[in-house]
Amino acid sequence: MVLDPGGATPGSLRKHNSALLMALIAGGTPVSRVDLARRTGLTKATVSSLVGELVDAGLVRDLGTEAGGAPGRPAGRLALDPYGPVGIGLQLATDHIAGCLMDLSGRVHARELRQVSAGLRPEQTVRAARPLLRRLFDHATTAGQLAAGVAVTIGGTISRDDDGYRSVAWAPELDWRSVDVLSLVAAELRALDLHGIDLSLDGEVAYAALAERRANPGPQWTNGYYVGGEAMIGAALLDGQGVERSAGLLGHLPVRGQGPRCACGGQGCLELYAGRNAMATAAGLPDPGPSRLLGRHPAEVPARVLETAADALAEAVISARLLINPATIFLGGRLAALGEPFRARVADRLDGNPHGTLDPIPVRLGRLGPDAALRGAAGTVAATVIADPLTWIDG
Ligand SMILES: [Zn+2]
Repeated sequence: MVLDPGGATPGSLRKHNSALLMALIAGGTPVSRVDLARRTGLTKATVSSLVGELVDAGLVRDLGTEAGGAPGRPAGRLALDPYGPVGIGLQLATDHIAGCLMDLSGRVHARELRQVSAGLRPEQTVRAARPLLRRLFDHATTAGQLAAGVAVTIGGTISRDDDGYRSVAWAPELDWRSVDVLSLVAAELRALDLHGIDLSLDGEVAYAALAERRANPGPQWTNGYYVGGEAMIGAALLDGQGVERSAGLLGHLPVRGQGPRCACGGQGCLELYAGRNAMATAAGLPDPGPSRLLGRHPAEVPARVLETAADALAEAVISARLLINPATIFLGGRLAALGEPFRARVADRLDGNPHGTLDPIPVRLGRLGPDAALRGAAGTVAATVIADPLTWIDG
């Protein structure tokens, strides 16, 4: 048997070609089999065979022949099947739990929100997610949809062991350290008699950045530095493929050397000036309110509080710039909700920085609002199926 120089086997070619076709079908505009053959260089017979598998597996839907098509030559347009597999996002926050169910095209079919009391232990928080998970899985079952996986997100840093298994390293607002949250979620799924569900985990800033990028793709994201979060401030760096290379807790970067002590043990952390609690206190608000259950209008934040926060954030971003030289800064999550005055102040401070040799850097606002992390989590499950449809079909 002659192997081709790339070492491709029939199995790996089928996997590669299916992924290629799936990516084109997922591109947004319905495409025909003829288009797919032309754009991939595959034969029409190969395209028809592979598309047949994707249709049979419920990943792709044939929308039928376009009016005016040549008679006798079926040229049905193909799109992602809205009743195909769904991804479930689960966000565990200090004061609430949120979940959503998203199809392959990124449409949210169901969204659930549950308020929880602060200060719960990890197993109590995850236990509180059980009814919410039940409703999301019931919703999928009723619609005839299979869940391709659950992606869990928290505000904090994630660690990976040698096998790539992920757990929560530090979630300052939840006060979690070294928590194997996926095992806790797996136990809840078993209690619901749900087995064999793929689980994944990432920080809410990383997922939010990916969601913003999927919603508004373009070259601006390459080497983009996304600063966001709801209860905390974190950051993620995006590469050309849209996968974050690093995510950290920017909120605990010291920006004022002689500043007050932070709960983390540090001094003068960014959180003390631009954090949710710090800004509420500085604005004279009794408490910041649950992050997304009771949104607060940015107009309630006095200009001086906004400016102090923006100046501190710019200091932190300047440090990040010197380390990693990002091409664009994105402000997402709660920081995006502070609006254009906040963005403009950060951009102005970055341009007027003491390291005057640095070029001006664009500062943009995220658009997805407080659901960005949740959407990013669910969308990552869907993206995994699109990137490798055969593993889903054969699995
Ligand atoms: Zn701190």
